[in-house]
Amino acid sequence: MENNNISLKAVVDKSNNRVVFVESNEKFVDIVFSFLTMPMGSVVRLTRNRPPAASIGCMNNLYNSVEILDKRYLRTEACKTMLLYPRNGAGNECKNLKLVINDGVQMRYFVCETDDCANSNYKLLSHYRNAICRCGNRMNWGREVKEREPTRVVFDDQDEGVFVKGPIQLTISYELQVMPSSTPDLDATQHLRSKETTAMLVSPKLAPGFSYEGQPLNIEEYMHQPYYYVITQGSGHFVTSDEMLIHSGEAISSSVLTVIDPKSPCYDNLSTGRGFLKGPAMFTITDDLTITPLSSVTGLSAIRKLKVPFSDLEEHIVYVGKEEASRLLVASFVSETALTNTFLLKESEQGS
Ligand SMILES: [Zn+2]
Repeated sequence: MENNNISLKAVVDKSNNRVVFVESNEKFVDIVFSFLTMPMGSVVRLTRNRPPAASIGCMNNLYNSVEILDKRYLRTEACKTMLLYPRNGAGNECKNLKLVINDGVQMRYFVCETDDCANSNYKLLSHYRNAICRCGNRMNWGREVKEREPTRVVFDDQDEGVFVKGPIQLTISYELQVMPSSTPDLDATQHLRSKETTAMLVSPKLAPGFSYEGQPLNIEEYMHQPYYYVITQGSGHFVTSDEMLIHSGEAISSSVLTVIDPKSPCYDNLSTGRGFLKGPAMFTITDDLTITPLSSVTGLSAIRKLKVPFSDLEEHIVYVGKEEASRLLVASFVSETALTNTFLLKESEQGS
């Protein structure tokens, strides 16, 4: 048995062959709570090839659409990486979970491939590969440059949790309601580590770089941490957010790095703060949110697939505001006909 395995006591209803609840310490609950911080692109990527085979509303179609979209429709190559491999805004916390749920994709930091550009010229940092430095070269130098993690005590029974204050015994019901074993309902002020931890779980923000002007849902993003590029004795180098490391005897110089907008094709103030797609462009979006560049065959093929006679078709003009964008978000999670649910079905019909 691996050391990382977590032991749980499960109470099972034998007649119905189902788990009524499990009891665990904070380590397992931290993992379940971390689900709330995951960006949707990661959820789709991590679940789509796992049993029970099922898609999440239309989300899998959205993900597949980005995967096959030609990069010429995106503002930068990094845009595709951002959507398919999004960073978690709570990534620093989640990497301390006892079991880290990922598919082996390491989150790295990238600086310019040009010698000394990160240290003495433009001093830029990208969270995504293939961004373009202001000097014109790619910022793909990430293999040896890592953020130094603060030293953390190896997990043991006395170690504190990531989101939940430990040590504590908790009960998790079959529908994932979590409560302390000794008292009736979870008190965030008492059992979660801080107000910031609570906010991270119940109103998580996007990782820096995802929001853009005009986004109708106004989703907030976290601020960047300060990042420093550090040269060490013996010409070693690393990126860190930990000022203690800059003042360590190992460092001989450091520079403050500017984090670039990965959606911007070049580093300038005019092109930052915009979205993922390069316009002008037109797309066909089917009811199940399969998105393809508009062509003479895309609409026809959607009609043929549904076997609808042309006499039954008519054009409508529909409008998207904040209300419709919110309805589309909900529908894309819970149905495979997101556009119909958003634009044709009235709320009472959806409720019924
Ligand atoms: Zn450069």
